[in-house]
Amino acid sequence: KVRVRFAPSPTGALHIGGVRTALYNYLFARQHGGDMIFRIEDTDSQRFVPGAEEYIIEAFKWLGVEFDEGVSFGGNYGPYRQSERKEIYKKYVKILLDNQKAYIAFDTPEELDAKRAEIKNFQYDASTRLSMRNSLTLSEEEVKSLIDSGEKYVVRIKIEPNEDVHVQDIIRGEVIINSSILDDKVLYKSADELPTYHLANIVDDHLMDVSHVIRGEEWLPSAPLHVLLYRAFGWEETMPQFAHLPLLLKPDGNGKLSKRDGDRLGFPVFPLEWKDPKTEEISSGYREAGYLPEAVINFLALLGWNPGNDQEIMSMDELIQLFDLHRCSKAGAKFDYEKGKWFNHQYIQLKSNEEIANLFIPYLKEQGVEAPFEKVVTVVGLMKERVSFVKELWDVCKFFFVAPTEYDEKTVKKRWKEDSPAQITELMHVLEAIEDFSLENQEKIVMEWIENKGYHLGNIMNAFRLTLVGEGKGPHMFDISAVLGKEETIARMKRAIE
Ligand code: GLU
Repeated sequence: KVRVRFAPSPTGALHIGGVRTALYNYLFARQHGGDMIFRIEDTDSQRFVPGAEEYIIEAFKWLGVEFDEGVSFGGNYGPYRQSERKEIYKKYVKILLDNQKAYIAFDTPEELDAKRAEIKNFQYDASTRLSMRNSLTLSEEEVKSLIDSGEKYVVRIKIEPNEDVHVQDIIRGEVIINSSILDDKVLYKSADELPTYHLANIVDDHLMDVSHVIRGEEWLPSAPLHVLLYRAFGWEETMPQFAHLPLLLKPDGNGKLSKRDGDRLGFPVFPLEWKDPKTEEISSGYREAGYLPEAVINFLALLGWNPGNDQEIMSMDELIQLFDLHRCSKAGAKFDYEKGKWFNHQYIQLKSNEEIANLFIPYLKEQGVEAPFEKVVTVVGLMKERVSFVKELWDVCKFFFVAPTEYDEKTVKKRWKEDSPAQITELMHVLEAIEDFSLENQEKIVMEWIENKGYHLGNIMNAFRLTLVGEGKGPHMFDISAVLGKEETIARMKRAIE
């Protein structure tokens, strides 16, 4: 059965690249009728940031990425928070030690520093470990007495040198690394009785029956070590398949998109706004910036994957159908923020006017405007084409809700002719007499009137627009008057010629 996991470390707000990793896991799981696990990798207590876990859960809720089990979701493979699995890891550390796949090392930070000063590019491995203070060089009694006396130690994996390690990656194919370039990574620290990421990750993926590890490219260098760990445990048969996703790059392609880029480049790199609990610094989020979650999902899905044709707009359901790890690119994906805006624009058009109206009403309230829902829906329908964000609607359509108090000088100069006052007065009477104030009917009657009088169509319409809008912009004239209604239309015209 397909079982995948998203396993963030709660070290702060979730970066948008992490969101994409989770999304690809989710699409893959859903496509295969599999399970999506949410695991918290918090074995590095120094980097723990309060609130991060809650933030991550809220972000996925907003985005519509659902988990089947894990922290806050329950399930049969728990606990899903690594800090609550200490005893489990201890058991597996012991198995490795008992089988001579790992060893205990007592070297203090000072001793390690001294070695680094002595040997250029020092690496703790087969070529150096016999000159260090560990259970390979000390007698059993010495090791025991050191531990009994409370000496801090770590457990390191014992990597056999000169062996090609094969990593099969769904996206990258076969990656071969010689074991001699790997160091004997620390797997466990007695100081806090916690494993490091590598050990906890492998033990958990195994015990949680994870079938596929889909994660960022930054973990590819760790993959050979992980393969060796599976081998050390004798779990190679059921080792998950790996897929390392391409990095998200800065918009100019120069390097990895970092957490700091957002503020520097003026766009969010976090799904939700985040306030750093230590510095109180606030970073912007897609939600607060006015993005629709569907647009963010669609945008992210295409950063590193494409469906093989030029289809760009895809719902979550379509993405689930079409997603294919084999079609993920090896090369990093440039983060094109303008494209993100474009997606939001598209999704505003795709959503019903009612939905957008509901999102717009809070902004109207902010402006002190209470309008009938029907009217908001109509205005949204007329104007949404012009915006990429719901909050931009106010600027382009406020004249539907508040009468102009001033008239734009330039437009007046250009569009308000000598005979405009007289013509507007006349038009006012024509409109007043219209019973059915629908767009079509107004248009028909007014056009007939202009033709009969031999007036200049453009001049009349420009002046009419100025009286209702206060400037030269806006949609079709009769759309405006129809939405405003007869009373308001006449009132605004009157005010303009007074
Ligand atoms: N805890 C790791 C992270 O924060 C997970 C890496 C993995 O998926 O193996 O990215």
